[in-house]
Amino acid sequence: MPGAFKAEKERVIVRCNGCNSAYTAWMWEDGRVSIIGISGCHCGSEELNALTGRVTSPSA
Ligand SMILES: [Zn+2]
Repeated sequence: MPGAFKAEKERVIVRCNGCNSAYTAWMWEDGRVSIIGISGCHCGSEELNALTGRVTSPSA
């Protein structure tokens, strides 16, 4: 599917349920969340709460 990979995700802030750390993450169209730059929280928890969604970053 050429060209399908674009703008299918939103930059969001998530908070880890395990240690309360906040991360910037991608939220994909299907609702999955992946922390940007790392595969998961350092504490090992995979339970992430998306906070207020859509964050616009001028440095993005
Ligand atoms: Zn954590």
